[in-house]
Amino acid sequence: MSLECRLKEIESRMAAAAAEVGRDPSEITLVGASKTQSSETIKYAISKGLTTCGENRVQEFTPHWDANAYEGAKVHFIGHLQTNKVKYIVGKVSVIESVDSFRLLEAVANQAEKLGLVQEILLEVNIAGEESKGGCPVEEVESLARRARELSHVRLRGLMVIPPVEQIKGENRIYFQKTHGLLVDIRRKMGDNDCEMNCLSMGMSDDFEDAIREGATHVRVGRGIFGNRN
Ligand SMILES: *Cc1c(COP(=O)(O)O)cnc(C)c1O
Repeated sequence: MSLECRLKEIESRMAAAAAEVGRDPSEITLVGASKTQSSETIKYAISKGLTTCGENRVQEFTPHWDANAYEGAKVHFIGHLQTNKVKYIVGKVSVIESVDSFRLLEAVANQAEKLGLVQEILLEVNIAGEESKGGCPVEEVESLARRARELSHVRLRGLMVIPPVEQIKGENRIYFQKTHGLLVDIRRKMGDNDCEMNCLSMGMSDDFEDAIREGATHVRVGRGIFGNRN
């Protein structure tokens, strides 16, 4: 199947999952996880309607950025980010989805202040408490969110989650539900009156439909769009 067909198929499956639970498909953004893809492939995907790219690694992002590969689309940074690499990302990407520590949060805020801009971010949550995973522990999300709201050069938009690899289809749905619950809880506790924290980035190629059923506003799909990675 061609990239164009795969993209259309993902979009129609997204719309069907949204319809199932009475959601408007236009509330949900497809983020094309383009790791390992060439600048040409990214440009092609954008020409076929991809509106948002998701990049994992600064080393891949920078050459694509320099080659104008993202022209016509937004970029979300979705991978683990080291504090010393923040300067290559802030102000270029529209959202950094993977903020998971105070140290990283402060580094992003400092760089944004230096550039005189406001960087949108999500907090990445380690929802299943996996040892070997990035993401903020569930117990710390509220304090991290409160700190983010104090910093005038970041705008906290919501949460991101990478649940465990599914062994059985459907078993991650509970984690999507928990992440949604956590966001609702934090918004209530923090009094999110201007409704800024309304983003939930969750779901990948194998489980994005369940994520949509549980309230995802952004799904990050790689293989489903670009095909299997080598
Ligand atoms: C690679 C990646 C995805 C997409 O994974 P697929 O299984 O290829 O859909 C989503 N989110 C993150 C953070 C990723 O690294």
